[in-house]
Amino acid sequence: MQNELDLYDITIVGGGPAGLFAAFYSGMRSMKTKLIEASPYLGGKLNSYPDKMIWDVGGQPPIKAKQLARQLIEQAMTFDPTIVLNQQIQDIKRTREGYYIIQSRTGECHLTRTIVLSIGYGAKSAIKLSVKDADKYENSNLHYTVTDLKHYKGKRVLISGGGDSAVDFANALYGIAHDVMVVHRRNEFKGHERSVETLLTNRIRVKMPFAVKRLEGDQARINAVEIDQVDEKGVFLNRCEHVKVDAVIVNHGMKADIGGIRNWGLKTDDRHILVNDKLETGKEGIYAAGDSAMFGNKIHLLAGAFTDAATAVNHAKTYIKPESAMDIFISSHNPVFDEKNELIEQAAK
Ligand SMILES: Cc1cc2nc3c(=O)[nH]c(=O)nc-3n(C[C@H](O)[C@H](O)[C@H](O)COP(=O)(O)OP(=O)(O)OC[C@H]3O[C@@H](n4cnc5c(N)ncnc54)[C@H](O)[C@@H]3O)c2cc1C
Repeated sequence: MQNELDLYDITIVGGGPAGLFAAFYSGMRSMKTKLIEASPYLGGKLNSYPDKMIWDVGGQPPIKAKQLARQLIEQAMTFDPTIVLNQQIQDIKRTREGYYIIQSRTGECHLTRTIVLSIGYGAKSAIKLSVKDADKYENSNLHYTVTDLKHYKGKRVLISGGGDSAVDFANALYGIAHDVMVVHRRNEFKGHERSVETLLTNRIRVKMPFAVKRLEGDQARINAVEIDQVDEKGVFLNRCEHVKVDAVIVNHGMKADIGGIRNWGLKTDDRHILVNDKLETGKEGIYAAGDSAMFGNKIHLLAGAFTDAATAVNHAKTYIKPESAMDIFISSHNPVFDEKNELIEQAAK
């Protein structure tokens, strides 16, 4: 299998701020680079707070997270790395030649000399509805996200949750679905103020503090949902109501887990990969950077993610090419920038 795979100098696992900056930096260090991201988009946690203003990145005036993500992606593409989306990495194996084969959950393989793990707190997955038989209906009419609004046309939809996703999906489905009901276990919504206002103006039916207690259906589909009022601790109060439904959407948030990476023989604590000050994991050629890395004086901020990325890449480069260890490498040392600088200066004239 190894012969069929293209060999990369460095494979970066995780396309958040640390991974994106590592992709730029490894390109600058003339390394053949691949970046693999579990989700369908790059940017990592920045996508979870897109409209928040970020003030604490050096030299960068206040900037919204979504704009910073766009800029990081643009910078990461400077040296045309190979980008792979929708692949959650879960296994690695060392080859006889000392390379690594990285394998995704869905079986795709990647061959690389070195690895930078910039996986944040791990790949995210939806928090499941903890009600009997919920998993049975996941392939029919119980959903954890909305991929196609048209699918709900004319249907009776119950949405469980009270955060941004629940509120946004309820608003998006209003006017498309025949009926939308939001069931939320708290007395207040956590969603964005303006979206909540829209939800209430749309007169979408809201039941709170209520929670889903039971799914009623046959082998194939849910036909109705029993909802019940809950107290502030989430205890059911036996004030049940039955709601006929065609579809149930559950938005109870996401959880992250470093998952299979725990089995790679790396040192980990509950959320992190433990590294030394060279960002080395203890396995030759494997480094960690960003939120996933833990060492003395670690800064779990964007500034820390960028520094880690450069440190990890520099040591990966030295691992491949020991004579490069003493290179003092700043961007102006790479001749590739001469041409780019000229273009920028011409455009400024
Ligand atoms: C609400 C909030 C506000 C914040 N505000 C600020 C701020 O103002 N200033 C600041 O400096 N910092 C802030 N931070 C922290 C900052 O967002 C993080 O430090 C930064 O995102 C870390 O980047 P990262 O690349 O290490 O991890 P992440 O951003 O978490 O990216 C990790 C990426 O790896 C992917 N991944 C995970 N597992 C796998 C796998 N097995 N295979 C493939 N891909 C995988 C994930 O899908 C994700 O895209 C904030 C964080 C939060 C949550």
